[in-house]
Amino acid sequence: MLSWLSRRAAPRSRPALGRSYWQRSNGAPEPGEIATAAGRAGWRSKVDYAVVGGGLAGLMTAIRLAEAEPTADIVVLEAHFVGFGASGRNAGLVSPLPAPVWMVNADSDREHAWALARMNKGTHLAAKWLAEHAPGSEVRPATLRIEATGKITAAGLARVAEVLEICRIDNVLTRDPSARAPAVVEVPTHTVDPFATVLGLTARARRLGVDVRESAPVQRVEDGLRGVDVTLEDGRTVHARAVVIATNAYTDSLQLPAQARAKVMHNYMLATPELSDEMLARLPGRASFVVEINSAYVFYRLHARRLIYGGIDKLAHRGDDFTVPDAVLAQLEQLMDQSVPGSRLEAAHAWGGKYHVTRTELPQIERTGRSGAIVMNVGYGGTGVALTMLCAGMAAGLARTGKVEDPDDRRLLTAIERTRLPVKAGLRFATRVAADLTLPSRRRD
Ligand SMILES: Cc1cc2nc3c(=O)[nH]c(=O)nc-3n(C[C@H](O)[C@H](O)[C@H](O)COP(=O)(O)OP(=O)(O)OC[C@H]3O[C@@H](n4cnc5c(N)ncnc54)[C@H](O)[C@@H]3O)c2cc1C
Repeated sequence: MLSWLSRRAAPRSRPALGRSYWQRSNGAPEPGEIATAAGRAGWRSKVDYAVVGGGLAGLMTAIRLAEAEPTADIVVLEAHFVGFGASGRNAGLVSPLPAPVWMVNADSDREHAWALARMNKGTHLAAKWLAEHAPGSEVRPATLRIEATGKITAAGLARVAEVLEICRIDNVLTRDPSARAPAVVEVPTHTVDPFATVLGLTARARRLGVDVRESAPVQRVEDGLRGVDVTLEDGRTVHARAVVIATNAYTDSLQLPAQARAKVMHNYMLATPELSDEMLARLPGRASFVVEINSAYVFYRLHARRLIYGGIDKLAHRGDDFTVPDAVLAQLEQLMDQSVPGSRLEAAHAWGGKYHVTRTELPQIERTGRSGAIVMNVGYGGTGVALTMLCAGMAAGLARTGKVEDPDDRRLLTAIERTRLPVKAGLRFATRVAADLTLPSRRRD
C-alpha cells in the first residue's frame, strides 16, 4: 500500500485536525478530555475476563465472551475512549476480501480457496449482524470497485477476478481490451460509519452486562496465581481468569510476556466539505467504495455529501498519532485531483491513524504466557473492520477454554496460523500476469 508522488506542494488550506471526521461527527471527546475519575467508580479487582483495548477487536471479543458465558464478569479496559484508535478513524469498508494474501495461491491451494470464500460469506453475515445488534452503525450495501489503469495492474486485476471465480465469490470484471478505460472488478459488500459502529458495539456489550471502562490505561499484564494480573498506569489492579490483548498498534507500549509479531503502519485520511450536486454527479455513487491500484493505492467513498479519501501509508511518523504532516496532506489533495480530475477538492477534516500489520496481513490470535491465559488478538491490518468481527469468536474461545469450538472457525484459525509469505505462489501469480499481458485475455472480454 505504499504510495508516492513526484510533485509536492503545500496543503491548500488548514482543515480541522485531531479527531477523525467520524469521531467528531459522533461527538467523541478530544483526546485527553475524559476525566480519569470517570473510570474509577465501582472498580472490581477480580473478574472472569478482562479485555484490554476498546476498539472493534476488544469490543467484539467481549461480546462473544458474554454471549458464550452470560453469567461471567467481563471488563473492557480502554486507555482513552472507545473507538480512540483505528476503529474510530478508518474508512468504514467492510472488506469482502479481508485476507488478500490467500488470493495469491487460492487457485492451487484448496484450503486457502475455502478460507477466502468462508471469510467473504462471513463479512456479509457480519454486516447483517451489525445492522441488527448495533443499530446506528449505518450498515449500507455497497460495491467495492477496484480500478486499475496501468497495463500490469489491469492484468493483475483480471487474475484476481479469476481467483474470485474459483472461490465462487460474486464479482464482475470489466476490461476494455483497448486499455483506455480502467479495468474494474466489482464485488458486493457493505460500508459502515466506523465510530458509530464502535458506539453501537459498546451499547451491545453493556446490554450483555460487560463493564466497558474508558480512561483505564493498562501498563502491565502478567501471569499470576491461577489467572492473570493486570496493572493499570494509575496503580489499580484486576485479576482475571484470562485476559485478551486487543491493543492493535499500541501493543508495544504494554508490558506483556511476549510482544506482537507485527509492525506499525500509519495511514492518513481526509474528508471534504459537503459537495455540490454538480460535483457529486462526477463521483461514483453513494453505494460505491473505490480502490485505485495504480502508481498510488488510494481509496474513497461518499458520506453525507462529503468525499472521504485516504491511502497514504507510512512506517515512520512524527507527532501524536492524530497528526497529519503537511506534506502528506498536500499529497492526499493531489491524489484526489487525479482521482477526480480538475475538481480542486479541498480537505475540511484530516486525521491520521495507525494499525498493526503482520507479515501475512493476517491477525495474530494465540495464547501466550506461562499458563496460556493471555490471548493476543491483534494485527488486523487494513481490513480489520470485517476481520475483527470474523475472528472475535476465536479469541473468545481461546480465552474461555483454550480451544476454538466452532469447527469452521477452528479451520479458519488453522489456515491463518499456517500461512507463510507465499513467495513461490507470488512469483507464479506474477508470471501468469506477465503471460496475460502477451496473450489475449481468457475471460469475459
Ligand atoms: C486511516 C485508516 C483507514 C482504515 N480503513 C479501513 C477500512 O476501510 N476497512 C477496514 O476493514 N479496515 C480499515 N482500517 C483498519 C482498521 O481500522 C483496523 O484494522 C481495526 O480498526 C483494528 O481494530 P482494533 O480493535 O484491533 O484496534 P484499535 O481500534 O486501534 O483499538 C485498540 C484500542 O486499544 C486501546 N489501547 C491501547 N493501549 C492501551 C492500553 N495500554 N490500555 C488500554 N487500552 C489501550 C486504544 O486506545 C484503542 O482504542 C483502517 C485503518 C486506518 C488507520
